[in-house]
Amino acid sequence: MNVVVCVKQIPDPAAPQSFDAQYNLDRSGKLILDEADTYGVEMALQLVDKAGSGEVSVVSMGSANDLAGLRNALAMGAAKAVIVSDDALRGTDALGTAKVLAAVIKRDLPDLILCATESSDGYTGTTPVQLAELLGLPSITFAKSVSVEGSTVKVNRQTEAGYDEVTAPLPCVVTVTAGVVEPRYASFKGIMAAKSKPVEILSVADLGLGDETGTKGAREEITAVVAAESRQAGEKYVDEGDGAEKIVAFLESIKVL
Ligand SMILES: Cc1cc2nc3c(=O)[nH]c(=O)nc-3n(C[C@H](O)[C@H](O)[C@H](O)COP(=O)(O)OP(=O)(O)OC[C@H]3O[C@@H](n4cnc5c(N)ncnc54)[C@H](O)[C@@H]3O)c2cc1C
Repeated sequence: MNVVVCVKQIPDPAAPQSFDAQYNLDRSGKLILDEADTYGVEMALQLVDKAGSGEVSVVSMGSANDLAGLRNALAMGAAKAVIVSDDALRGTDALGTAKVLAAVIKRDLPDLILCATESSDGYTGTTPVQLAELLGLPSITFAKSVSVEGSTVKVNRQTEAGYDEVTAPLPCVVTVTAGVVEPRYASFKGIMAAKSKPVEILSVADLGLGDETGTKGAREEITAVVAAESRQAGEKYVDEGDGAEKIVAFLESIKVL
């Protein structure tokens, strides 16, 4: 079974972030594998391992100045990586990103495509379902567990009340939550092996794409970036014998109870 995992390389969240005049996040510095995507990589590795044959590939769009994020996925056990990196992609929005990822993936359609539910830096959460639509495949979102039986994928899909059991025929696009599996740490052997695994760097022209990507194709525009509101200090209750009642009243007021 062959699985493709869409992974995003993001600026290190621990480093200070900056934006250009169009409010695009500066991605020229150190890039890391989005932690949200480590769950997809781990899930894919476990599924291929269980199937007994096949491989995991990772596909990305973004800057190829730093490939550390992709090398991390390869060190975990993915066999190869493809990244589409091109100045013409500047300003590509989420749908344009899905078009680029679809163009790569349809060159050699895998059995299963995994994405995270949402990325950590942009998190529109729209790319994976757009990708499925462009590939003409079914999609299942918010997977808390994934298994494959024959040509069917079975997913426990997280809901507010619990989970739904959903099945779909392969090939299929599935988005996984952070609870789906525990990502492994890359071993020293894996890190050394990753250095010689193939990383293909493609341009927009290599994929036969043009104005549907980049600023020309974008239907989204970032009009402002504002700092998130700082959290208000919580309300303190001093227990004068009625502490429990006060807490229950508060929980009832926010409809938790
Ligand atoms: C106004 C605007 C300008 C942009 N400019 C640029 C630019 O100049 N250069 C550029 O490279 N990108 C650019 N982008 C694209 C952006 O970096 C994201 O890739 C895209 O918007 C989807 O991100 P998201 O965080 O909303 O994804 P979500 O939909 O939240 O991500 C969910 C999952 O989809 C997959 N995914 C999402 N994005 C990617 C990706 N890039 N590669 C592989 N898998 C992915 C991952 O599995 C991810 O976990 C721009 C986007 C916008 C809206």
